[in-house]
Amino acid sequence: MDRDKILLTPGPLTTTLRTKLAMLKDWGSWDAEFNAVTARVRHGLLDILHAGESHVLVPLQGSGTFSVEAAVATLVPHDGHVLVLDNGAYCKRAARLTTLMGRWASSLLFDESQPVDPQALEQFLRDDPSVTHVLLVHCETGAGVLNPLQEVADVCARFQVGLIVDAMSSFGALPIDARSTRFDALVAASGKCLEGVPGMGFVLIRKEVLAACEGRSQSLSMDLFDQHAYMEKTGQWRFTPPTHVVVALAEAMAQFEQEGGQSARLARYTRNCETLLAGMQALGLKPFLDPAVQAPIIVTFHAPMLPGYDFKTFYAAVRARGFLLYPGKLTQIETFRVGCIGAIGENEITQAVHAIGLALQELKNS
Ligand SMILES: *Cc1c(COP(=O)(O)O)cnc(C)c1O
Repeated sequence: MDRDKILLTPGPLTTTLRTKLAMLKDWGSWDAEFNAVTARVRHGLLDILHAGESHVLVPLQGSGTFSVEAAVATLVPHDGHVLVLDNGAYCKRAARLTTLMGRWASSLLFDESQPVDPQALEQFLRDDPSVTHVLLVHCETGAGVLNPLQEVADVCARFQVGLIVDAMSSFGALPIDARSTRFDALVAASGKCLEGVPGMGFVLIRKEVLAACEGRSQSLSMDLFDQHAYMEKTGQWRFTPPTHVVVALAEAMAQFEQEGGQSARLARYTRNCETLLAGMQALGLKPFLDPAVQAPIIVTFHAPMLPGYDFKTFYAAVRARGFLLYPGKLTQIETFRVGCIGAIGENEITQAVHAIGLALQELKNS
């Protein structure tokens, strides 16, 4: 079978044929036609969060982590202090990159099965006035927990500290409104819930915040102030743009609009998630999280109770039936993950559950 496998992962994701076809053309980085696509994408991304008045959109080449790192290096002063609200692997990654950027990073630790607690944040900020920025991961893709963005943003506004949001796996699917949720920077990428292909991150930055960031980044290629200034002046990317990724994202965003925007996408992912949970339950597979804290993005399951179970064999048996699972990312217990996102619907999820059932049978009989 040479049909593409269905990706049940947190990215790269299954994309539509239309999105893939948009990449069958070469574009010049100086060309007005390509620059118009970049401008359209930048405006469209701001519009999704109603952020056109308050924020600018700075795209950056690379995977999503590049943009988180760039946001920290561009926004946080060298003597700043970043508090990471840590309930999982992507939070730990954010704390590590902050330290590597030479900024002081502290972590407020929470259980990976629970959302971060805005009251604990409030207490921390009261006790330690040196904190200049809070870093929140909106949906912690490690376990799949949804974190309370609005409450955290409200606490940050009250204490007048900057908020940097990693909204990588929530942007486009979960509701975020820049008019009512105050953040300095929010980071996401092309290849997650917008259903583009990977290769481009982007950061929404509050206008007056960016204005004060000149010369702050110690990196040339990841300086979002310079990236923005150059793009405003010339309409072009500062260095070679990921042209095919940008046009694929423009095409994916047109389909996002046609589907009905964020609310329609959330509705489809929610149905995917519910179909998955019901199907897996029938197979005797248990989710790791309490349904109340589960984001409809990616679901962590306890490993099947099979003698001699290992993920690689399980993965291979499901892969042979056309679906790609994702390994677990929890430190203490054996789990695996199944994504609900990408250009897939209930039918694909139902087929995936069927494939997982057949794979379990095969492992049992071997
Ligand atoms: C996917 C993701 C990232 C970025 O990961 P990359 O591998 O660099 O694209 C960052 N944070 C979260 C929460 C994510 O889900």
